[in-house]
Amino acid sequence: MNLRDESNCAIFIEDARAVSIEDAAKRLGLCFTSHRHEHPQPCPHCGGTDTFAFSTAKNKWNCRAGGIGGQDGIGMAAHCEGLDLHRREAFLEACSIVLARPMPNETDWEAPDKRAARRQRLE
Ligand SMILES: [Zn+2]
Repeated sequence: MNLRDESNCAIFIEDARAVSIEDAAKRLGLCFTSHRHEHPQPCPHCGGTDTFAFSTAKNKWNCRAGGIGGQDGIGMAAHCEGLDLHRREAFLEACSIVLARPMPNETDWEAPDKRAARRQRLE
């Protein structure tokens, strides 16, 4: 798949948002610790013993040590990997982890901005 233009980047992010907690957990290498839907375990980022848990039934995750949780794989991946979602590059990296797909190239991603800037200069 070609990820060169902005719309493909948008699709990449949209696809990542659609990834379930269960799939994201598998791609993050988290443990499925019980035969039920809840899977407590040490937080990969904060440590502890059973600080972190995700639920495949509720499609939720939370970390008691970090006081954070949510209902999306991107947020879970970001917490486990210590990524700051306010940074675009880190956000795309989290998307890339949950999708198990390569990240769209940063320069390609910036291309539309650069094009707009160039157009502005020409005017
Ligand atoms: Zn944590």
